[in-house]
Amino acid sequence: MRRLWPRHVRSRMTLWYVLVLGVLLLVYAGVASSYLFYSLREQLDHNLLEDVERVEGLIENTPDGMVALKSVHHGEDELNTQRFVEVWSPNGILLYRSPTLRGRTLGGPPPPNPEGTAEPSPSTVRLADGTRVRMAASIPSVDGRRVFLRVAHSEQGLWQEMEEIVSVLLLVLPPALVLAGLSGFALARKALAPIDVMARKAERISAERLNERLPIENPEDELGHLAQAFNATLARLEAAFDQLRRFTADASHELRTPLTAIRSVGEVALQTPKSATEYRDVIGSMLEETDRLTRLVDSLLTLSRADAGHIHVQRTDISLLGLAQEASSLVEVLAEEKRQRISVEGDPTLIVSGDRLILRQALINLIDNAIKYSQGGAEIFVRVAAGKDTQLIVEVVDQGPGVSQEHQSRIFDRFYRVDSARSREWGGAGLGLAIARWAVEVHGGQIRLQSVEGQGSTFRIALPSTTTPEKNGYKEAST
Ligand code: ADP
Repeated sequence: MRRLWPRHVRSRMTLWYVLVLGVLLLVYAGVASSYLFYSLREQLDHNLLEDVERVEGLIENTPDGMVALKSVHHGEDELNTQRFVEVWSPNGILLYRSPTLRGRTLGGPPPPNPEGTAEPSPSTVRLADGTRVRMAASIPSVDGRRVFLRVAHSEQGLWQEMEEIVSVLLLVLPPALVLAGLSGFALARKALAPIDVMARKAERISAERLNERLPIENPEDELGHLAQAFNATLARLEAAFDQLRRFTADASHELRTPLTAIRSVGEVALQTPKSATEYRDVIGSMLEETDRLTRLVDSLLTLSRADAGHIHVQRTDISLLGLAQEASSLVEVLAEEKRQRISVEGDPTLIVSGDRLILRQALINLIDNAIKYSQGGAEIFVRVAAGKDTQLIVEVVDQGPGVSQEHQSRIFDRFYRVDSARSREWGGAGLGLAIARWAVEVHGGQIRLQSVEGQGSTFRIALPSTTTPEKNGYKEAST
């Protein structure tokens, strides 16, 4: 069965179209011919009832006690051949039978108490030889003598007409269906042709040619919508591929820098014999580069696992202030090196539902940046407070160089650095803020930067809270 079912949509559409049209035409032919049949029969009945009246006037008694029909005009001869008349006496004696009946009867002797003389109603009767006739009965009185009269008209003409009409309808149906099928197929092919074009074009679009788009002839119709949806998917794919390419290129570049450094430090050291202290220095700087490399690989790993959705967020209720204190204590040693002070302050009752390690990493990255980019001896503030609409806010505020407006929109992008040379000098590859943004967003929060160049930066994290804080505002806590 499946093999018989056409493979192409246009053939299937045509088949359905022809099937539905065929059924509709058959129903139409049925309804039209029944309507015609009933109106022709109504006409036949009308003529029959008129004829009953006419025949009633023609009946006359004969001397032998029978009845006869008065002689008719020439014009009625034709009618006479179609007309069958039978006259019975009330006690069941056949008084007259028209010769056209050729001995057949219209129903034998009348019933004992025949009724319905006023309104004779026609009915269909089959004669002994199977001829179908429309018959009506009446009980007229002929010179004071009541007789039982049956008049019938043959239905032959009616059935002949019906046969002709039905055969014309049935003859017309197959060529009409073939014609409809052919034009339906041509229409379906024309309507679906743009899909073929689209499919061929889409086949040619490969990963290397993702910048190509499908042509949109009419953006309002269904094909236009399909092409638009396809193009939108292509645009997303292209953006994802671009991002991946950039990420891979940037990552290789970042990985190569410390590797080159290690290699050249090693090569230079091997050129001339050195003292033990000098070798220790060389090994020390090689280890420094290795540290940088390890941090970079860790960051890359975090981001790629985050992209792949392999990092599971294990939510627990965490005191936000406690988390800020923990993050700051982990990088405090770096601040001390630069004689900086980190002040952590805020409401200790604020609880956030989140993954402790992920959120802590975000805070560490922000505080680490504040330390890196601020002057020695500067003060850094980490503030925890309740925000609007049950949000919890953590701000990392520094008095560093700030970030100019033009860089602010891109600062959370991967590998983006305002000043690459200076940033790398402090070990940054431009991934810290990207990781912080991912960490915050994975908790349903947002991270923003408010900064004016030369006047410090404020990184503001807004997280959805689990418990409604009792207090609103800052509270002094530890340093
Ligand atoms: P990096 O590891 O290079 O610091 P980040 O993603 O953490 O990478 O930061 C991206 C860039 O944003 C940095 O290179 C730096 O130019 C800028 N930046 C980040 N934090 C600060 C800050 N507190 N003050 C000034 N500039 C900052």
